[in-house]
Amino acid sequence: MSIQFLEMPDEKGYFGEYGGQIIPPPLVEIMNQINDAYEEIKNTKKFQDELYDLQINYVGRPSPIYHAKRLSEKVGGAQIHFKREDLNHTGAHKINHCIGEALLAKHMGKTRVLAETGAGQHGVALATACALVGIDCEIHMGEIDIKKEHPNVTKMKILGCNLVPVTRGTKTLKDAVDSAFEEYLKDPVNSLYAIGSVVGPHPFPKMVRDFQSVVGKEARQQFQDKHGQLPDILMACVGGGSNAIGLFTAFLEDEEVQMIGVEPAGKGLDTPDHAATLTKGSKGAIHGFECYNLQDEKGNPLPVYSIASGLDYPGVGPQHCYLKDIERVQYVTADDKECLDAFMELSRMEGIIPALESAHAIAHAMKIAKDMPKDKHILVNLSGRGDKDADYVAEYLSL
Ligand SMILES: *Cc1c(COP(=O)(O)O)cnc(C)c1O
Repeated sequence: MSIQFLEMPDEKGYFGEYGGQIIPPPLVEIMNQINDAYEEIKNTKKFQDELYDLQINYVGRPSPIYHAKRLSEKVGGAQIHFKREDLNHTGAHKINHCIGEALLAKHMGKTRVLAETGAGQHGVALATACALVGIDCEIHMGEIDIKKEHPNVTKMKILGCNLVPVTRGTKTLKDAVDSAFEEYLKDPVNSLYAIGSVVGPHPFPKMVRDFQSVVGKEARQQFQDKHGQLPDILMACVGGGSNAIGLFTAFLEDEEVQMIGVEPAGKGLDTPDHAATLTKGSKGAIHGFECYNLQDEKGNPLPVYSIASGLDYPGVGPQHCYLKDIERVQYVTADDKECLDAFMELSRMEGIIPALESAHAIAHAMKIAKDMPKDKHILVNLSGRGDKDADYVAEYLSL
């Protein structure tokens, strides 16, 4: 296989047949300006130095790789390792692309950064990055998520962002995206829509991937240094797909490294209550790009669900769709129960409380590790910490 993954997407933003800019012509122009500005600054020393300094001294990179010995022993097979994105400032991988987006907005002379948030992680990360860079921030969030993710809501307010509750439709992530996008369309010249994952119109899937790829770059070097080899399997949860693509990108050309993305099966794939887009979806357009979608016959997005708010999105990053079709990455699912079991197991075996999102990847790692030899290595992207979920889980399990 000699596919030049990093040369993707093409100049129109396509990864194979996915991605692109399914948006009105005036907006295409705006997106192309963002792309031009990004391409112009990304390789300049000034931008790279500024980003690198913030990654090291503000985010706390590089995040460590931790060998979960007790968990691996209990599972009784392959060795399980974690890339500790939960240890980043603000507690998840999202800060990686938020700082990039805020710096870009400032460079372009924008006065406001706008976004949606699901679990509140993107909102907190973006509000943080905007405070850091010194630019106004407006976050749209579904009412249901506001109730569920109270600590993150409070943090966003403290960080000085304008929080807009979204009361329409499902009152969760999908409608928050629609609401934020409408607001953006009112003044796209002075605002930057900072998308929270590798989704949306070109250039966002590319830009967010590039900003997240620091995760895999570090991990590849760290694992090689420590173990003298690459991991056998990479594992990451997939909502929009940013933490997964961030880990995978540096390894895509390593044919011997297997990669698995884990989607939320919610209450079961045979119920409507899941968000397993790559597993159960079909091709279509959503939020300005083409990808696999969970949609009805008319092409409208279906309501989706996961116990992890950050994973309940009816679309998915275009590069993942491509990687699925060419079979470079395998996509599987874990349901709510498996997620909760993994959440408790990691907490009690290792003293690490994971985000419910990340717990989907941990669940699948535990599932396959037990049937693998002890000298095999699985590296899981521990995309975030579970502080935000602790109260919810304790109540759910009547702890
Ligand atoms: C938002 C979030 C995710 C899901 O987003 P991706 O773009 O699929 O990575 C996963 N884990 C955590 C901790 C998150 O906050």
